[in-house]
Amino acid sequence: MADIIQLLPDNLANQIAAGEVIQRPASAVKELLENAVDAGADQIQLFIGDAGKSLVQVVDNGCGMSETDARLCFERHATSKIRSIDDLFRIRTMGFRGEALASIAAVSQVELKTRRAEEELGVLLEVDNSIVKRQEPCQCPAGTSIAMKNLFFNIPARRNFLKSNNVEIRHITEEFIRVALAFPHISFSLNQDGQEQYHLEKGSAKQRIVALLGSAYNAKLISIRESTDYMNIYGFAGKPETAKKTRGDQFFFVNNRFIRSAYLHHAVMGAFSDMIPADTFPPYVLFIELDPAHVDINVHPTKQEIKFEDEKLIYAFVQSALKHALARFSITPALDFDL
Ligand code: ADP
Ligand code: MG
Repeated sequence: MADIIQLLPDNLANQIAAGEVIQRPASAVKELLENAVDAGADQIQLFIGDAGKSLVQVVDNGCGMSETDARLCFERHATSKIRSIDDLFRIRTMGFRGEALASIAAVSQVELKTRRAEEELGVLLEVDNSIVKRQEPCQCPAGTSIAMKNLFFNIPARRNFLKSNNVEIRHITEEFIRVALAFPHISFSLNQDGQEQYHLEKGSAKQRIVALLGSAYNAKLISIRESTDYMNIYGFAGKPETAKKTRGDQFFFVNNRFIRSAYLHHAVMGAFSDMIPADTFPPYVLFIELDPAHVDINVHPTKQEIKFEDEKLIYAFVQSALKHALARFSITPALDFDL
C-alpha cells in the first residue's frame, strides 16, 4: 500500500481553522471591534451591509500598522500581543491568538487601509481567500479600517448555514453591545445599510448602560462596588421591580472581557432570591477585575468561557457584593451612589 497522509495546503488549513473563530458575521464583528480596542482607539465605527453577509467593516483611530505589519497581520499565529506563554497570564489585551485576521482572510475578501500617525502615507491591502491581491501606498486617516466582504464567498456550504438577516443582525448587535458596554470611554457607532443604529458618545459606565439597554433603567439601577486585595467588582443591577420573565440583559465582564458563566449568574440570582418572583431575572452589568494570573482565558477560541483559579471565592464575593448593595438600597434608597 502507498503512503496516504498529505499535508493540507495552507489556505485549506486556514479555511478549516477559521471555522472555530468565524462562524457568522457577528464573530467578525467581535474580533474586529476587539482589535480596534487593543489598538488604543477612542473612536470606533462599525458598518454592516446585508446583515454582515456582504460587509462587516470596522474603522478605528488607533495606532495603525506599518507596511510590514499590515502584511504580516493576515498570517496565522501572527500577533503583537504576546511573545511567551507566560504573557498569557499577564494579558491585558482582548486578543492574543493571532488567528482572527488569518481566519477572516481565509473565508472572505478583505480590504485593509491602515496608517500610523507618524507616517505620511498609509497602506492599502486587498486579500482574497488568504492571497494578497493588491498592495499599494494610500492616503488615509491615521488608524485602521478593515472591511470583510462577501463572507464565505469561497465556501458555499458554509454560506448556506447563515441564518436570515434578522437573526444575523441580532447576533451582530449582541456582540456590538458587549464590547460597547465594556469600554464606555470609547465612542462607538453602528451603521447598518447606510443607517445609523447606535451613536454612543464617551461617558460613564452608567450612561453607556442606559444608552444601550434603555432609558427605562435610568432610575432603576443599584450601584455595586466592592474591593478586596484579590479582586474588585463594580457595576449595576436592576432594582427588584425590574426583574423580567425573559433573560437577556445579564452581563458579566472579567477584565473587560464578556464571559458566559452559569455559575456566577447563579451567585447573583441567589442574592436576589426572595426579593423577586421565581423564574424572573433582574438585569445586571457586572465588571470583575482581578490579576490576570488568576484566570485562564485560553480555554475556548472565542474566549467567552474562562477558568478561574478559585471559582468559589469569586462566587462568594459576587454574591456578597450583590447582597450588600441590595441591603443598602432597601434600607436607604436615597443613599445609592453613582459610579
Ligand atoms: P490578535 O488580536 O490575537 O493579536 P489578530 O489576527 O486579531 O490577532 O490581529 C493580528 C495583529 O494585527 C494584532 O496583534 C495587531 O498587531 C494587528 N492588528 C489587528 N487589527 C488592528 C487594528 N485595528 N489596529 C492596529 N493593529 C491591528
Ligand atoms: Mg484580534
